Amino acid sequence: MAVVGVDFGTLASKIGVARHRGIDIIANEVSNRATPSLVAFGPKQRAIGEAAKTQETSNFKNTIGSLKRLIGRTLNDPDVQDIEKKFINAALVDVQGTVGVEINYLGERQKFSATQLVAMYLGRLRDTASAELKTTVSDIVIAVPGWFTDVQRRAILDAASIANLNVLRIINDTTAAALGYGITKADLPEADNPKHVAFIDVGHSSLSVAIVAYSKGQLIVKSTAYDRNLGGRDIDYALVKHFAAEFKEKYKIDVLSNPKAVFRLAAATEKLKKVLSANAEAPINVESIMNDIDASSKLTRDDLEGLIADELSRIVAPIQRAIDDSGLNLDEIEVVELIGGSSRIPAVRARIAECFPGKTLSTTLNQDEAVARGATFSCAMLSPVFRVREFSVSDINAYPIKVQWAPVPSDPEEDTELVVFGEGNAMPSTKILSFYRKDPFDIEAVYAKPENLPGGINPWIAKFTAKEVPLLGQENPGDAVQVKLKTRLNANGILGFEGAYVETREDKDEPAPMDGVEGGEAAAAPPKKKKIIKHEVKFVVGNSAMDKGDVEKLKEQENSMWENDKLVKDTEDRKNALEEYIYDTRSKLDDRYAPFVQQPEKDALLALLTEQEDWLYTEEGEDATKSTYVQRLDACKALGDPIYNRWRESEDRQRSIASLRET
Ligand code: ATP
Ligand code: MG
Repeated sequence: MAVVGVDFGTLASKIGVARHRGIDIIANEVSNRATPSLVAFGPKQRAIGEAAKTQETSNFKNTIGSLKRLIGRTLNDPDVQDIEKKFINAALVDVQGTVGVEINYLGERQKFSATQLVAMYLGRLRDTASAELKTTVSDIVIAVPGWFTDVQRRAILDAASIANLNVLRIINDTTAAALGYGITKADLPEADNPKHVAFIDVGHSSLSVAIVAYSKGQLIVKSTAYDRNLGGRDIDYALVKHFAAEFKEKYKIDVLSNPKAVFRLAAATEKLKKVLSANAEAPINVESIMNDIDASSKLTRDDLEGLIADELSRIVAPIQRAIDDSGLNLDEIEVVELIGGSSRIPAVRARIAECFPGKTLSTTLNQDEAVARGATFSCAMLSPVFRVREFSVSDINAYPIKVQWAPVPSDPEEDTELVVFGEGNAMPSTKILSFYRKDPFDIEAVYAKPENLPGGINPWIAKFTAKEVPLLGQENPGDAVQVKLKTRLNANGILGFEGAYVETREDKDEPAPMDGVEGGEAAAAPPKKKKIIKHEVKFVVGNSAMDKGDVEKLKEQENSMWENDKLVKDTEDRKNALEEYIYDTRSKLDDRYAPFVQQPEKDALLALLTEQEDWLYTEEGEDATKSTYVQRLDACKALGDPIYNRWRESEDRQRSIASLRET
């Protein structure tokens, strides 16, 4: 059984695996430790991760990034329309009430929801981990931003199910980093004098701050704050606007009117930005940006800082908010740990440093991999495969959640709402809510401050419907009974109504008859031991999770797309094998095989190789089935193998003679 943790990034994702000697961040099929968060569609197959990146420029309308920014959103969400659209080239559409894309795939216009796209992508990460570990991967922990809401988290779970993954936990990015930081520290203080560390993650699209208290064997998140729309891509975009204006003057081209030109320029500005983190000045060159023009310019670090002044000015607010909400004095925050790629920008660091006067910022964590490592630790802790040091993680809730209900006629004065999990409430957490009811009833959970939610996310979370209230234990027939509703904000940051019951009390040694009226509540009764009996309330719950049947359907669809990709790849491999055999054998016939082959045999094989080669360049040979390539290679081998075998035998003979001489 594999143990895998994933940092699902806006730009790229990192995968950690647990092994006996520790946690490793693994490399993908092209030896990169970060896999582009991209999914692309083509006439014959999909391309995911690195393969999608390779073809991004040529197929950019069918290549989709920003996957994590789209999941759990709707098409008309203002965040999607006003922000994400800038970074996405594919056509965004509605797919059953959620945002999706319409792209060309297998020669047709097809639509996929963001949840499906994330499933495709997670499937690729799963395959990368599986190839590394040489075993199937199912259990996984996925890190997401702490500002993700219930609907976004549930969509991640749905996507994982579609990809046949079993999510042991969704963990917040900064909490994952904090776990990785703490679990390896042997010198943590006692709980009455915790060590406080601020984690600041400046990524590609968002900025997160968490202030964490550490003591022996545990971490408690004290406060978090976010800017959901501040990261490297915003800096890239500021540079795009700058150079677009400059190139308009210089080359009389309107880059911003041409999505492909914007795309090329954005790639170049990202590179330029990175160079400026280490150099005072750097050039930018964009070959054939548009109208066959090669554009070039340069920028100094000072210019960069001027151009991104707006972005830089927004760094302080979330950090300040987290400090305030932590209730700590600045000098109680011992360490400030930076993570995320954009924390490498000197001006970003300077702004962060301003918030912690007199303190040196630390980068003891691997900035790019800390989140994936922490997620993998979390998976190892939850999986039975490894024994991991006990370390308790207490996170907090980012948005207050309340329950609300319709007034009951018998008690019109009753409140109709209650905040159950306030902002900063510990997570996981279970609360038992009481309601006096005698008829079936509904309770809804909603975010209490919709104005704080990302974009246009619907504040509605879930609905509990009691189908029948067991009227037991009433003082008087016709009285309402107390229904207890178990409400849980789980470790994934997802709210659930887990059950409801009515309690009756019975004398321990002499159980009351089934239909007996309970007299035991009378105040005068001696304090006999009572046994509490829970009577389940029949209920149904609705939430934003995908219907099980729909998940199954999408899983099948995903499996068949996966099979198709695999067939296309295998076919390509067989075709390459045939081609390689032709060239390889031809050259060997004149070389190492020469002493082992008669002319007629050689002529026959050469003729066959040429025939196959010619066929490969026909339309049919260009695009044949896997079995056709296999058959043709087999035909070549039928003539080639005897020659090869004679050479092989002779080689083996020589070798054994040589080794005999040595001994
Ligand atoms: P998010 O956490 O927002 O979802 P992510 O996890 O994909 O995004 P990271 O990998 O933390 O993001 O950071 C990627 C960003 O960091 C990109 O914008 C990239 O250009 C930027 N970046 C990486 N290295 C440097 C550098 N040396 N200088 C400046 N920026 C850098
Ligand atoms: Mg990140």
